[in-house]
Amino acid sequence: MSNDILNLNCVQLRDKIGKGEIKSVDAVNAVFGQIEKFENKIGAFLSLFKEQSLSRAAEIDGKIKNGQAVGAFAGVPVAVKDNMCTTFGATTCGSKMLEKFYSPYNATAIENLLAADAVIIGKTNLDEFAMGSSTENSGLKKTFNPWDLSRVPGGSSGGSAAAVAAGMCFASLGSDTGGSIRQPASFCGLAGLKPTYGRVSRYGLVAYGSSLDQIGPFGKDVSDCAMMLNVIAGHDERDSTSVDEKTAAVNDYLANIGKPVEGLKIAVVPELFEGANPEVVCAVKNAIEIYKKLGAEVVEIKMPYFEYSIAAYYLIATAEASSNLARYDGVHYGYRSKNANDYIEVYAKSRAEALGSEVKRRIMLGTYALSSGYYDAYYLKALKVRNLIRSDFTAAFGNADCIMMPTSPTTAFKVGEKTADPLEMYLSDVYTIAVNLAGVPAISIPCGFDGQNLPIGLQIIASTFEEEKLLRISKMFENQTDYHKRKPRIL
Ligand code: GLN
Repeated sequence: MSNDILNLNCVQLRDKIGKGEIKSVDAVNAVFGQIEKFENKIGAFLSLFKEQSLSRAAEIDGKIKNGQAVGAFAGVPVAVKDNMCTTFGATTCGSKMLEKFYSPYNATAIENLLAADAVIIGKTNLDEFAMGSSTENSGLKKTFNPWDLSRVPGGSSGGSAAAVAAGMCFASLGSDTGGSIRQPASFCGLAGLKPTYGRVSRYGLVAYGSSLDQIGPFGKDVSDCAMMLNVIAGHDERDSTSVDEKTAAVNDYLANIGKPVEGLKIAVVPELFEGANPEVVCAVKNAIEIYKKLGAEVVEIKMPYFEYSIAAYYLIATAEASSNLARYDGVHYGYRSKNANDYIEVYAKSRAEALGSEVKRRIMLGTYALSSGYYDAYYLKALKVRNLIRSDFTAAFGNADCIMMPTSPTTAFKVGEKTADPLEMYLSDVYTIAVNLAGVPAISIPCGFDGQNLPIGLQIIASTFEEEKLLRISKMFENQTDYHKRKPRIL
């Protein structure tokens, strides 16, 4: 029974619960069965809510039994990254600074999930304050990749990705500032979507780089991403950067997902394939061939400013982070040093003791880039480069429906392989970061495996607010392949 349940995707499970064929309680028990089996090896969660989840599931089952209406998730168990505020459990951001921080309110994305009758079974591990590409920067625990326990799950939303890949929940939420949904989706063999900046409210998402951050879903397949997006997308008056319905209406992303995009035109940037691992290049090129067989036209383009995205990002993201993280002063939130003798020491020692080295590095870089005398040379220059990168995307979408490229230059790397060299770690986001600078939506979907049975991700990027098209394009590939159905050997 439990295996039958675990083999379903969210859409199927929701339908079966709705028809009374499966109980939400059984689905919750099935994921907690997986958690008992695998969580000690994988380490995806920072908190789990078993009792609360079972009673919530029983409530939903009761409603269904009585013929009452339930929300679109009808009791499907999901998990959320621990940088989204919840009134249940702590909201740690993977940091000692917030280890004991209990939010008085829910993030809007959380409220929306709850209103849709999703059962939030736990909160997942991440790189501290979402800064990283492997989840190794978490100040609280390590997370391992279910496909190979000696490897990282990617990051910063590594816990959310590992949890879905190991069947410990049916879908999850992550956040993506420079690739933190797409890269772990690629490493863990999942579909992971970063929506357009402004599509999903950031209210209650602990800020890292406010002009880049966006919440989005991980699913076993693209339909599950669509189902999640349906619930979390939309205007929120509490987030002034969330876009209103008049500017860009929210579609029913699931309704038309099966409709192929007629006359599909795909842009590729041949130079960008040069830096990637040959097995990754091969899988991505094969994927593009499959689209060609489906009738798509492929156009080769240039994106001359793409190569500057890492440099621009690490000025803009760190500048924003240094300002956002100033609030962790030992007074307002979380950790306070016991060794401080005056108020200056409260600030200095609380931050010194509770923040990890990557977070400190970013605060220092960002403070420097914003400082008087250097602001124009670094921060302002990076903003100008950001505009040029954006213009690369605008030009590309003038002549194509989407751009395709690898999500990551490699498959999942070994734990510890890149921790000694931050620049090496930063480079694992070469393909994803430009997308956040431009604010456009992008998805990673599984498109093959390397010689070590590690998943490879295809990144598909679309124009602003074209999530519906992006999901339909992705589904065309999924219909032709079974990569999304494969499972880690340990399961
Ligand atoms: N790896 C990038 C960084 O460390 C992106 C992280 C993210 O998207 N949150 O900033």
